[in-house]
Amino acid sequence: MASATAMIIGGGVIGLSTAYHLARRRFGRVILLEKGPVGDGASTRAGGIITGLLWSETGVLARKISLALFRELSEDLPGYRFSDVGCLNLFDPPTWPERQRLLPLYDRLGAPYEILDAAEMRYRWPELTPAETDIGLFDPLGGYSEPEEYAPALAQRCRELGVEIREGVQVTGFVQHKRRVTGVTTTEGAIGGDAVICTVHTWTQHLLTQPGWPPPFKAFVHQRYLSTPLSSDTSAAIQLPAINANPYNGYIRPARGHRLLAGGETGWREEFRTPSPTFHMPALTTPLSVQERLSANLTPLVPALGRTCWESEKVGLIAFSLDGEPLLGPLPQLPGLYVGCAFHSGGFAYNPAAGLLLAEFVADGHTQIDVSAFAPDRFAPGEVADYLAATVVQDEAVRRRH
Ligand SMILES: Cc1cc2nc3c(=O)[nH]c(=O)nc-3n(C[C@H](O)[C@H](O)[C@H](O)COP(=O)(O)OP(=O)(O)OC[C@H]3O[C@@H](n4cnc5c(N)ncnc54)[C@H](O)[C@@H]3O)c2cc1C
Repeated sequence: MASATAMIIGGGVIGLSTAYHLARRRFGRVILLEKGPVGDGASTRAGGIITGLLWSETGVLARKISLALFRELSEDLPGYRFSDVGCLNLFDPPTWPERQRLLPLYDRLGAPYEILDAAEMRYRWPELTPAETDIGLFDPLGGYSEPEEYAPALAQRCRELGVEIREGVQVTGFVQHKRRVTGVTTTEGAIGGDAVICTVHTWTQHLLTQPGWPPPFKAFVHQRYLSTPLSSDTSAAIQLPAINANPYNGYIRPARGHRLLAGGETGWREEFRTPSPTFHMPALTTPLSVQERLSANLTPLVPALGRTCWESEKVGLIAFSLDGEPLLGPLPQLPGLYVGCAFHSGGFAYNPAAGLLLAEFVADGHTQIDVSAFAPDRFAPGEVADYLAATVVQDEAVRRRH
C-alpha cells in the first residue's frame, strides 16, 4: 500500500506506537499531528508500570504482546531500557478470591505468575514489609519503563523510520466524503488521508462527539510522585519490583537516582470533563493532602519511604470506559476512522500492543488477536447516553490499575 497516507492524531505513546508500527511495515506515508510537543499529554506523566496479569482474556493477550515488545524496544530505541524487575500485585483476603478465579485463565494463556505469602515476599525483597495476611501475585515478566525516556526515544525512532511528526498542529475536525473520513482539518489547513487514527486520550470528548461518537468513557484526575534519593549513592537502585499495592491504595516502584515513584487514585474526586480542545494537562492540580495520605498508606509496606520526602509531582488524567476495557479499533459509523483510548491507568503498559493492533487494523483490516472485546461500538447507544448523563466520582467507576 505504498501510496497510502495514514494520519495519526495525538503524539502520546499510543499515537507514537501506532506510527512506529505503520512505518516499520512500510505502510506508506505516515503523518502524526500533535497540538503541543510530543509527549505533552498523560504519557510523560505515567508511572510506566506494567503487569501482564489483567482481568480479561483480551487484556492478557494484548499485554503478552506489550511485554515482548517492551523488551524488543529496549534493543531498538537508543536511550530506552525496560526495567524487568517483575510486578508484584498485592491483595488482601477479601479481594484475593476475585483474582484467584483468574488463575486458570493465566494458565490457559501462558501468562506466568507466582503466588507469594508475606514471609516469601520479605525474603525476596528485604525492603518490603507486607502484612501477614497479604497475598502477592508476582508477574515475573512485568516491570516498568521511565516514560520520560521512552516517549522521546520512540518519537526519534519514528522520525528515523520516515514518520512526519508535526508538532504544534491541532486537528479541529474531519473531512468526510459520503460519511467516509478522508482527512482532517487543522489549525494549518486540511490534510487528506486514507486512514485517520485518533489517539487523543480525553480530548476525544471534543474531537469525536460532534461527528457522531460521544466516547463512552469518564476521565479522572490522577497523580504520582517522585521521592528524594534514598541515599547519596544515586547509582544504586532499591531492590524492589514494581508493586500494585492494592490493599495500600497505591502503587510504588524503584526510580532513577535511588528514588521511589508512587501514585494512587483519589476515589472521592468527581469525574473531569476536558474543558476545551486546547486544554493542557499542567492546568490540573491536586490537594497537598493527597501526597501526605500516599506516604501514610505506603510507608507500612515500604518503610524506606519514611526516609524521603516527595521531590516532584505529576498530575494527569486517566479514562475508564463503561466496562473498564479499552476502546480500540475502527468506528463503523465513521468509515476510515480508527480510535485508541480509555486505557484506564494502564495506557502506558498497553501502548506497544495498542499501536501494533491499530497498525494491523489499518494495514490488514484485521488483527493477530481477537480484540472484539475492545470494539469502540460495543455498547448500545442508550446505555452510553445514560452513562454520560450521570456525574460520578472515581470510586463509582470500574476499578482498574496497571
Ligand atoms: C499520574 C499518572 C500515572 C499513570 N501511571 C501509569 C502506569 O504506571 N502505567 C500505565 O500503563 N499507565 C499509566 N498511566 C496512564 C497512561 O499515562 C495513559 O493511559 C497513556 O499515557 C495514554 O496515552 P495516550 O497516547 O492515549 O494519551 P496522551 O499521552 O495524553 O496523548 C494524547 C495527545 O493528543 C494530543 N492532542 C489532543 N487533542 C489534539 C488535537 N485536536 N490535535 C492534535 N493533537 C491533540 C495531546 O496534546 C496529547 O499529547 C498513568 C496516568 C497518569 C495521569
